[in-house]
Amino acid sequence: MGREQEEGEGGEEYLFKIVVIGDSAVGKSNLLSRFARNEFDSNSKATIGVEFQTQVVDIEGKEIKAQIWDTAGQERFRAVTSAYYRGAVGALIVYDITRRTSFDSVKRWLDELGTHCDTAIARMLVGNKCDLDSIREVSRDEGKSLAEEESLFFMETSALDSTNVEAAFEVVIREIYNNMSRKIL
Ligand code: GDP
Ligand code: MG
Repeated sequence: MGREQEEGEGGEEYLFKIVVIGDSAVGKSNLLSRFARNEFDSNSKATIGVEFQTQVVDIEGKEIKAQIWDTAGQERFRAVTSAYYRGAVGALIVYDITRRTSFDSVKRWLDELGTHCDTAIARMLVGNKCDLDSIREVSRDEGKSLAEEESLFFMETSALDSTNVEAAFEVVIREIYNNMSRKIL
């Protein structure tokens, strides 16, 4: 945690584009609004059409702007455009732990991501809705194994009760920062 510069004195700024992908209704928009605005929206109308939200985080004294993109309903038609992925340096691939089909789709989302972005970008597998443990269809171990197989970070989250939401985004942002530092320094 270096403090080489006084706050607000032209400190270095970084802008990281992060995409959130996964089947419809897994909770992508709510994860994003929980992280960026600390809001949860039970019927999700408000977030339709919002393209991205920006959240500023501090990593090692550097101001990082995380620009987090939401598919905003495009995924329903399996028509996420290449513009969506362009320039992304991080990705969250989300499934719903109570819906196995959304977990089965993860490979397809990874394939699609792979056609647009280098696999070296920071990628995290996110099993959302962990507050609904009683109706779970995908075990934590299954999520963890898939993540290991595909070299992804892994966390279970709840956009509803905030479990691991900040942590998930922060791991991705920190990894992007590390990736960047390794290339530059
Ligand atoms: P998206 O289509 O992937 O963007 O999913 P939304 O964010 O619109 O969420 C879909 C539905 O799941 C909504 O009814 C949300 O209220 C609900 N939801 C999202 N995240 C959670 C969560 O962590 N726990 C629970 N119980 N419900 C959630
Ligand atoms: Mg959405």
